[in-house]
Amino acid sequence: MTSTETTMKETVQAKWKKRPLIISGPCSAETEEQVLETAQRLAKTGKVDMLRAGIWKPRTRPGSFEGIGTKGLPWMQQAKKITGLPITVEVATAKQVEDALHFDVDVLWIGARTTVNPFSVQEVADALKGVKVPVLIKNPINPDLELWTGAVERVAKAGIDQIGLIHRGFSAYGNSEYRNAPMWHLAIEMKRRNPELPFINDPSHICGRRDILLDVMQKAVNLDYDGFIIESHIDPDKAWSDAKQQVTPERLAEMLDEIVWRKEDTSSEEFHAALEKLRQQINHLDDELMQILGQRMKVAEQIGLYKKNNEITILQTNRWNEILERAFKQGDKIGLSKEFITKYFDAVHMESINHQNKIMNS
Ligand code: PEP
Ligand code: MN
Repeated sequence: MTSTETTMKETVQAKWKKRPLIISGPCSAETEEQVLETAQRLAKTGKVDMLRAGIWKPRTRPGSFEGIGTKGLPWMQQAKKITGLPITVEVATAKQVEDALHFDVDVLWIGARTTVNPFSVQEVADALKGVKVPVLIKNPINPDLELWTGAVERVAKAGIDQIGLIHRGFSAYGNSEYRNAPMWHLAIEMKRRNPELPFINDPSHICGRRDILLDVMQKAVNLDYDGFIIESHIDPDKAWSDAKQQVTPERLAEMLDEIVWRKEDTSSEEFHAALEKLRQQINHLDDELMQILGQRMKVAEQIGLYKKNNEITILQTNRWNEILERAFKQGDKIGLSKEFITKYFDAVHMESINHQNKIMNS
């Protein structure tokens, strides 16, 4: 290994541990000039740690730009040489892994359309055997944590000991505010299960549009993510792929300045004492809620008994609508969202039905 290569390996190690870790670059490498100019403008901001670009693009429909291919890799290599930024690209096949490593790509990432397919993940994992390179794994396009976990296990089994997770949102049918619904609760659960893996947010593919990027980024910071992979382009509107969601390197720098950064912990004793007090209150209230829910179920069981003796169905749609309407009105007054009330009452109602079913069938 040459000394420049050794220094780059050390840089990658340091960046991997840096918080927040900021990875940026175009959705796709398009031309040599575009890659080099993006890299230089990103480096100039002083806020970006690694350069990303898609070389092979898995597109949902044929006919869109499917990536420049292997000929874009020397451009990335050159961008690294000029800026000192480590580079990362998406790989989906053994050949792509081989080509990326041949051109000294420092970090690989597995895309959302690959994570869904265990055959593809295994092919990539097999190609990684005996290689020391950090790998980032995007969530699968469908909301399935087991697939995501499976991909992590396959790559880990191949001997890769630096694995990171990228949350890029989940496909949903129909129109929504987001291109890919964030489903934060799934991301939080994946983070909870893998506390030792860097957890990176990809606001670009969650949002699909520029105007809500900052909002999603702030949410991610509030949830203690370890960094971002975010798309940037020298002329976003003219990008060959994902034009609507890309921002200029300068706009990215502004957004990073606008974010309120938070840390997970502090050594301040005063803070911990105050927090502890409030947490005890929460525990206390949770205990009360559980007691009350238990009582509610006992009453539901009594109703079940009456219904059983009078041969009445458990579900009475009118009554259910009445409960929800009452709750919406009350919730509105005390600041509980309609979304929460619907979810909460659905769960409570299902539990009541289960209790009543037991009585009915006994
Ligand atoms: C990308 O990062 O450009 C990309 C293709 O993302 P995803 O795999 O999340 O769709
Ligand atoms: Mn993209």
